[in-house]
Amino acid sequence: MNKKKFALGLVGAATVLTLGACGARGGSSTSDESADTGKGGGEKLIGGAIYKFDDTFMTGVRTAMTNAAKEAGVKLELVDSQNKQPTQNEQVDTFITKGVQALAVNPVDRTAAGPIIEKAKAKDLPIVFINREPEEADMNSYDKVWYVGAKAEQSGTQSGQIIADYFEANPEADKNGDGVIQYVMLQGEPGHQDATLRTEYSIKAIEEAGFKTEKLAADTAMWDKAKATDLMKSFLTGQGVDKIEAVIANNDDMALGAIEALKAEGYNTGDPAKFIPVVGVDATAPALEAMKDGSLLGTVLNDAVNQGTATINVANAVMDGKEVNEANVGYPVTDGKYIWIDYVKVTKDNYAEFMK
Ligand code: BGC
Repeated sequence: MNKKKFALGLVGAATVLTLGACGARGGSSTSDESADTGKGGGEKLIGGAIYKFDDTFMTGVRTAMTNAAKEAGVKLELVDSQNKQPTQNEQVDTFITKGVQALAVNPVDRTAAGPIIEKAKAKDLPIVFINREPEEADMNSYDKVWYVGAKAEQSGTQSGQIIADYFEANPEADKNGDGVIQYVMLQGEPGHQDATLRTEYSIKAIEEAGFKTEKLAADTAMWDKAKATDLMKSFLTGQGVDKIEAVIANNDDMALGAIEALKAEGYNTGDPAKFIPVVGVDATAPALEAMKDGSLLGTVLNDAVNQGTATINVANAVMDGKEVNEANVGYPVTDGKYIWIDYVKVTKDNYAEFMK
């Protein structure tokens, strides 16, 4: 497993989330002392805004942030931006008025990070973005901005490799025997780097493995399971189940939504003659269960624990006046600003290791 030394075990209780005005910026304790006592540096407050709480993957990141904050002895207030950028902008204003010493932001619209950075800069506040990568010009507009995320290309490549390996091992999966993999693609939110790059790199990987591909249909289901079921139903109606040889989804919720639609046609329920390989990304708990029951071919671990932990570690190091480097945050730092957490391919051979 890919657990880094700063990653935590399961800590159940949530950090206290609502606070009034708080004390002076910075704190005298080091993060080591804080971790030991679990309460050192009690005045340190991080304001965290998450694009929407009702997102399976980001729920995992939130839990990791809460656990890491507790472990580090810093306070974390997390708010739900309800998928509205103006709401998030107001939440950032409120955090600033309240006196937070660092911001952790999962932007609703990653191209709208600029104004948030301006707000932080005006108050000399450090800001850590998570999961939705701001544009490079915005990242370079302030020296106290960091990004914690994962390389979308890597997840696309790994999910494509899972499909390619399957066709290599099961040539009959090319149902019409034309030597081409006919696929449908369920995409994440338009504009999200993970949607664009996973779509592109999954197909690239299949082709690099020596297969030809043909896109039968592709559309966005906005990362959402119910929307993915509807979309897959329309693909099935439009194409006919016999024509579809693979289903590639930009995340697990959409893969699971597509599987619901396949199951309604009698597919992916255990009959080997009625199986269409489906891949997702994230390795959420329900996706791992679906791998166990055989309805989902594979996924890619999008490491919520390490992304959430790294976010808090970066904010905490900066609040302590420390440099953001591997020694202080527990993760390698690229170009002084980027913390990249590796994806991990999850197949039938290793999925059980990821089940909690
Ligand atoms: C995850 C998706 C999630 C999205 C939210 C992606 O990295 O794979 O499941 O909905 O981030 O921004």
